[in-house]
Amino acid sequence: MKKDKHTGSGIFVLSSPSGGGKTTLVRFMKKKFPDMIYSVSTTSRKPRPGDKNGHDYNFITPVAFRKGIREKKFVEWALVHGNYYGTPESNIKDALKKGKSVLLDLDVKGAMQVKKLFPEAVLIFITAPGIKELRRRIISRGQDDMKAIRRRLLNAREELRKIKYFDFLIMNEEVRDAQKRMAAIYQAELCRVKHGNTPFRLRRTTPFTKKGEGGRI
Ligand code: 5GP
Repeated sequence: MKKDKHTGSGIFVLSSPSGGGKTTLVRFMKKKFPDMIYSVSTTSRKPRPGDKNGHDYNFITPVAFRKGIREKKFVEWALVHGNYYGTPESNIKDALKKGKSVLLDLDVKGAMQVKKLFPEAVLIFITAPGIKELRRRIISRGQDDMKAIRRRLLNAREELRKIKYFDFLIMNEEVRDAQKRMAAIYQAELCRVKHGNTPFRLRRTTPFTKKGEGGRI
């Protein structure tokens, strides 16, 4: 895979119901855009085989998590499938201070919270095409018992209703295709002209002041 050194500042939030394919896309983005910072969340869930502390998550106890909430350490947090998950405020602020972009992998509630606090954040929803396919994918990864599968699918129905609050939707039928769309969204957003990301000092006048007439910038 060819790495892309495009730099720029922005907040990118990926959300998807279980089985939507978000983890694969996050892995792809980390490799493709090495300049982007991945926001490592804090969670009270137990590490799964292969999970690396400090890399996938910062794993702490529920008691320590609740202490973090009281001390306002998290810019957002949520109870997902019975476990606490939260984003330390410093994850976002430090990345922006360095002029870098930050990628967050959050549940839908977390995404809404981030949008409220940072309206410029780009929210991207990823899903498989339909509940049946989500169910098939959750079962085939073999991580959950029937009770957990049912809970994940119930949550998925709720989450799918919130797509309208997102900026982009990636229908993840074929992984390569989804990766291309994800990279395209990221690259286009970093090319957006917004305050502070241009080396030129733009005057306040618009380039086209009258119909058909060019102005100066
Ligand atoms: P998993 O335990 O399968 O890694 O993640 C379960 C869910 O928690 C996923 O939907 C993931 O996006 C969400 N999640 C992970 N970190 C955070 C976080 O910091 N805040 C919120 N709100 N959700 C998170």
